[in-house]
Amino acid sequence: MEKKNIDWGSLGFGYQTTDYRYVANFKNGAWDEGGLTTDSNIVMNECAGVLQYAQTVFEGMKAYTTEDGRTVVFRPDLNAERMENSARRLEMPVFPKERFLEAVKETVRANEAWVPPYGTGASLYIRPYMFGSSPVIGVKPAEEYQFRILVTPVGPYFKGGIKPLTLKVSDFDRAAPHGTGHIKAGLNYAMSLHAIVTAHEEGYDENMYLDAGTRTFVEETGGANFLFVTKDGTVVTPKSNSILPSITRRSLIYVAQHYLGLKAEEREIPFEEVKDMAECGLCGTAAVISPVGRIDNHGETILFPSGMTEMGPITKKLYETLTGIQMGRIEAPEGWIVEV
Ligand SMILES: *Cc1c(COP(=O)(O)O)cnc(C)c1O
Repeated sequence: MEKKNIDWGSLGFGYQTTDYRYVANFKNGAWDEGGLTTDSNIVMNECAGVLQYAQTVFEGMKAYTTEDGRTVVFRPDLNAERMENSARRLEMPVFPKERFLEAVKETVRANEAWVPPYGTGASLYIRPYMFGSSPVIGVKPAEEYQFRILVTPVGPYFKGGIKPLTLKVSDFDRAAPHGTGHIKAGLNYAMSLHAIVTAHEEGYDENMYLDAGTRTFVEETGGANFLFVTKDGTVVTPKSNSILPSITRRSLIYVAQHYLGLKAEEREIPFEEVKDMAECGLCGTAAVISPVGRIDNHGETILFPSGMTEMGPITKKLYETLTGIQMGRIEAPEGWIVEV
């Protein structure tokens, strides 16, 4: 397969039109056969449910080339399951897991020329999504839906080297208790835009959100889960019903326990405890882990001992082990790496 002539290493995280995308339509209570198309535009009614009442959910994962030249995807079964939960919460039909997995493979295979070669640090970002496509004006779920998968090549996350992030504790809330924080829905991002633009204007990279009910426990950032390392070397990650269950975070906890022999726990983390942590990172598909160097909370500053120039030692081991598993340099647990 001849690859596209792209300077893979200098790609950023942006959208670029690729050759094929997958489309399936839900109508009269059933999904049609679905298939690939070269048309990157969507035509729908002006009153479509997604346009009026934001009835849409999505997923994010990556395809990449392993050291031995295979094209693979990391744990797509978990994306399928998470999308099912997201869809149910927004009263949308479920796109069946087996079809989801087949559609991901079919879309990546059709765009094989866009999958960056091994060693470039780049990957092919995969974005499955679904939206209400039929007209809705009185508030209710749409009757028709479209499921699509688009792919776009993205560059290495740590391009200019590793720069630990500076966060602020946000004055805004990300997700209400019993709300939609645990599903991957566009609506959670729409309302986060003002908070992130404000944080950027103030010179911060990201927001740390606390639980909306009491503003005492750590939740997550706009698009990544927290992972901390205590001074005695235990990996801890916040537990909350309003956090999006990151696949990267769940994988890192497994890696900590089963590959690195570390103690790892998911539990409520009072913000009060953060100043005593040795390391802090953000986990998600985009970066795997990005280290956090500093957190500001209304005049109080927390500086992690790992500093502002590198990853903490345990964060680094976690990062290297998980990326090693993804790239085929370290043996993966059963089912984690799916060849397309
Ligand atoms: C997608 C997402 C994450 C990261 O999840 P991964 O499965 O690891 O990519 C974390 N938080 C939010 C709010 C997200 O939408």
